[in-house]
Amino acid sequence: MASGRRTRYLRAMTDAASPIASPLPLAPKAEGRQRKPDWIRVKAPTSVGFSETRKLMRSLNLATVCEEAACPNIGECWTKKHATVMILGDTCTRACAFCNVKTGMPRAVDPLEPEHVATAAAELGLEHIVITSVDRDDLPDGGAKQFVRVIEALRRNTPSTTIEILTPDFRNKPEASVEAIVAARPDVYNHNLETVPRLYPTIRPGARYYASLRLLESVKRHDPTIFTKSGLMTGLGEQRLEVHQVMDDMRSADVDFLTMGQYLQPTPRHAKVEEFVTPQAFAAYAAIARAKGFLLVAASPLTRSSYHAGDDFAKMKAAREAKLAAGR
Ligand code: SF4
Repeated sequence: MASGRRTRYLRAMTDAASPIASPLPLAPKAEGRQRKPDWIRVKAPTSVGFSETRKLMRSLNLATVCEEAACPNIGECWTKKHATVMILGDTCTRACAFCNVKTGMPRAVDPLEPEHVATAAAELGLEHIVITSVDRDDLPDGGAKQFVRVIEALRRNTPSTTIEILTPDFRNKPEASVEAIVAARPDVYNHNLETVPRLYPTIRPGARYYASLRLLESVKRHDPTIFTKSGLMTGLGEQRLEVHQVMDDMRSADVDFLTMGQYLQPTPRHAKVEEFVTPQAFAAYAAIARAKGFLLVAASPLTRSSYHAGDDFAKMKAAREAKLAAGR
């Protein structure tokens, strides 16, 4: 079967098998670095808040995933002084096909980083902060201790700030690494599955799908009060039923919050965009995910793990309280 016909056939089969049977409008398959559809366009970052956020991050020698990952929401988020700090340096030991963060041998861990993160949270006036990191396969604990130090510094300096961490998978690291982070009690523990298991060898070759899933499961097992969160990119060639299966896997690990957003190719060296998923298709995914029992679902072309994270944390808390009150 010709590849275009085969794709249409697979889509038809997938739609027919879905609980939401209505056909979804699909944008044309992207070729090379095709023009992005209108729903992806974002404004250039030019505000005063943007400049102030950048200046503060530079003065504290902090990296942000907003810049390193070339996030399309940076204009909006930094105008509101919402930045996601990337600890453990700006150099990653892995080379995922979707990620813009540079790969190489990272520098030594900065002992001042935890206090600098706490200062940034205070100066930005953050009610909710998201902390992520590069992968540090070179460190015996994968960088877990630095996460703990950052959480402790934030609790000391800005005790009312709620803390969300987005960690690597700590693959091949001692279980105690993750246990130490959980014991430090972040409010939200996020680890992104990123894509469907079939695409791991090409998109996330240094990771293992089931290892990532087990990480999420173990966080909940060690402390069921911590909210868990995970994210998926769309447009990498995944099929709808594969995405539904990942949702089921996440729910079996008791993940509370699912985020889904469109993958954008950061440079021509990175994985190609196979498809621009339409806003309507995102809405359909969100409906399915809610039916599967997530406390909260954020799914749109520009959704990213930390996009509107503070507002979503409040919604997630309210959803849990409502669920407990209803005895579910
Ligand atoms: S969505 Fe997250 S990574 Fe992107 S700019 Fe906003 S805070 Fe930064």
